[in-house]
Amino acid sequence: MKILKKILDDGLSLLYPKICLSCGNNIRSYEEAICLTCQYKLPKTNFHLEKENTMAELFWGRANIRHAASFYYFDKGGLVRNLIHNLKYGNKPEIGLRLGQLYGKTLRTSSFFQEIEVIIPVPLHPKKQKMRGYNQSIQFAKGISKTMQVPWSEVLSRTVMTETQTQKARIERFKNVEHAFKVITPDMAKGKHVLLVDDVLTTGATLEACAHKLLELSNTKVSVATIAYAQHNT
Ligand SMILES: [Zn+2]
Repeated sequence: MKILKKILDDGLSLLYPKICLSCGNNIRSYEEAICLTCQYKLPKTNFHLEKENTMAELFWGRANIRHAASFYYFDKGGLVRNLIHNLKYGNKPEIGLRLGQLYGKTLRTSSFFQEIEVIIPVPLHPKKQKMRGYNQSIQFAKGISKTMQVPWSEVLSRTVMTETQTQKARIERFKNVEHAFKVITPDMAKGKHVLLVDDVLTTGATLEACAHKLLELSNTKVSVATIAYAQHNT
């Protein structure tokens, strides 16, 4: 069966060459979504190795976040930007899944993420999810769950559809999302150390609002992880 599958895969890739969703080059049948060169070249933050990293500092005085880590730096005009763009707007949910699997392997090796008991994706508003066909943060959560061997759960829901955040300053962004989330299955997170996951961290307003909701549950600890971290010049 394995051989048959390989023959079919190779045949299909001659007809429809698979491409890397980061650099656009053709990829081999054993590579999934992102080529090995890109996996090596994409700018990793290594935040999982330092407790007091610049991402964690962003939450100081705003939300009690245990550990914060991001897989890559969000590089304007670069390969990570391509990946995120394809993930959010290019109907490529497999990018989230693949990056989650790769990052889950990394997080498993970090002493800061050993206690995680459940992975919680930042929700999209149901209308937005319907339009996109999937929630990219759920894809990322599923991938991490697989390689970290920790369950994921949709504990939060988004009740308010906010306007686009891109042009807004940090305070404005927070006001915009402060009341947008609701805990729907508290028992899944109560008394646990949860890992809240999202695609890109820019100001941290969305993660902060979600963390506040989770921290209202008794004895819940919150850590956060994102695919990319956008650097600030504030
Ligand atoms: Zn590539």
